[in-house]
Amino acid sequence: MADCIFCKIINGDIPSKKIYEDDKVLAFHDISPEAPVHFLVIPKEHIVSANEINEENSKIIAHIFIIINKIVRELNVADAGYRIINNCGTDGGQTVGHMHFHILAGRNLKWPPG
Ligand code: 5GP
Ligand code: ZN
Repeated sequence: MADCIFCKIINGDIPSKKIYEDDKVLAFHDISPEAPVHFLVIPKEHIVSANEINEENSKIIAHIFIIINKIVRELNVADAGYRIINNCGTDGGQTVGHMHFHILAGRNLKWPPG
């Protein structure tokens, strides 16, 4: 999608600190980290938000979670724990209209979020 910053990160128009990439997903460090470890995992397909998950595209969700599992082990935060967040829509706090999962780790995270 032309105006989407995450599509631009996928195609290399905007640089990012990549952690993992395959033909379906990209993981990269958040530009404004809220924890010692804060990365995002996004599908390469432009899916706007969790509202658009359906039978046809839902396999990507399982794949994203498998990749998260792999990355948190590599970053040595799997055992200590982490949080996976998907913000959906305005009230959910979504600011980028390309579905993404935040992974936060490396400190004791508060609950509930604000
Ligand atoms: P949201 O608020 O939509 O759930 O999360 C969007 C996230 O994308 C924010 O945490 C923000 O810091 C991150 N972000 C926005 N623009 C960029 C960028 O150009 N590069 C990277 N690496 N992260 C970005
Ligand atoms: Zn996009």
